[in-house]
Amino acid sequence: MDYFPLFLRLQGKPVLLVGAGEVARRKLVLLRAAGAVVTVVAPDLSAIATDYANDAQVLLQQQAFAPEQLHGKWLVIAATNDSSVNAAVAQAAEAQQIWANVVDDTEQCSAIVPAIVDRSPVVIAISSGATAPVLARRIRAQLEALIDESVGTLAKMAQRWRETIKTRLPDVSARRRFWDAVLDSRLPALLKNRREQDAEQLLSDLLAQAETPQRGHVSLVGAGPGDPGLLTLNAQRALQQADVIFYDQLVSPAVLELARRDAELISVGKKAGDHKTSQAAINALLVEHAKQNKRVVRLKGGDPFIFGRGGEELEALAAEHISFDVVPGITAAIACAAYAGIPLTHRSHAQSVRFVTAHCQNSADTLDWANLAREQQTLAFYMGVAQLETIRAKLLEHGATPTLPFAMIENGSRPEQRVITGHLSELPEKARTHQVQSPALLVIGDVAQLHHRLQWFKPETARSENVQPERSVA
Ligand code: SAH
Repeated sequence: MDYFPLFLRLQGKPVLLVGAGEVARRKLVLLRAAGAVVTVVAPDLSAIATDYANDAQVLLQQQAFAPEQLHGKWLVIAATNDSSVNAAVAQAAEAQQIWANVVDDTEQCSAIVPAIVDRSPVVIAISSGATAPVLARRIRAQLEALIDESVGTLAKMAQRWRETIKTRLPDVSARRRFWDAVLDSRLPALLKNRREQDAEQLLSDLLAQAETPQRGHVSLVGAGPGDPGLLTLNAQRALQQADVIFYDQLVSPAVLELARRDAELISVGKKAGDHKTSQAAINALLVEHAKQNKRVVRLKGGDPFIFGRGGEELEALAAEHISFDVVPGITAAIACAAYAGIPLTHRSHAQSVRFVTAHCQNSADTLDWANLAREQQTLAFYMGVAQLETIRAKLLEHGATPTLPFAMIENGSRPEQRVITGHLSELPEKARTHQVQSPALLVIGDVAQLHHRLQWFKPETARSENVQPERSVA
């Protein structure tokens, strides 16, 4: 960081403003809004003299800048159009260890004034370290549009209620939950529509509710395939409100980054063949933490109800009468297909899609291979990496064409995504050559070939290893 961000309390503090032109006037307005006592020095004060003649907190001194004027000041702003005067101000301020801002001359500044979004008492300051003021202004414009005027009203309301709420909710985390509930309620919308009385009433109702102690609750949340942009807003909110988060191996670090800072993060990772925490142990952990009246998030890769054993976890909670909700996530098949440019259904090639796991006990024997080998459908195999020989053998045995296209999508939607394509007849060999690792999703069907024409996602490492299609699907 080249600059240390800081908000100054200037109420009643003496500040020097050198210059009295249009630029100086704008600074004077801001300084006065912050309550500073401003001495303005300039050889010609005519541009501001009339406006500030009656302001007791503005002292007008018609004279040239002299270093003594800095005595006793906390801050100086040089806003003249004479660069030698500006430089003299900066130099004198440096010598007297007073923060100096020289308008439009970063080199001379020991302090810079940020672009601001003012929703007082909420103020957002943006600085590009004076390298790209246009960029800073652009960001400000975006924030202006994003953050409604009512944010200020909301913050003032919070200020008014602060003491009452502190007395009635002495526990810090109860207060945090209360404010989360307020911000998630209709209250911001009411303020936006200037219904301040209704908003006050709602706040007081929510406070009464918050006084009844929190019960434990578990949210079963889908974390999607890895790209945090694929989380739902509900998932993000759950992560922001959690006391404790139990996450799987498949959940990407980028998603965990979005968790509330002081939430406890507990890995209950499971890799195929290496069951770190057994399912029964996970169920017990969820129950135990919910019984301590915590907000528990059970975070799973993809969607919790697609090969995620989410159902079993909910059954354990239901048996203990623990309240829960489910936030769906984008499952690997949907995400991998999208990020590989493979439409799972297609008017000409596939009228249905099946999500299949080749991993479960005896699945090779129990799956209806005759049905899976039919044409005009797409198969999405989860957890298939270790079962490729079986998948090929069974499908061919039941009449699938050897030239049926496949695509294996490894680390779908993540920067390291790879897509390996080929024909059913060469499936295990290709995967071995390219050393495909879990997590990888296997798509089998004519649509897989569309990857060559429709791929759009450019992973950082750009390692997509494709073979050219021999059979064209048009
Ligand atoms: N509930 C998860 C699936 C869990 S089973 C979901 O809905 O996606 C684990 C399997 O999902 C992996 O073996 C792999 O086949 C697939 N998978 C999950 N994330 C993936 C990703 N980012 N890329 C490719 N496959 C993925």
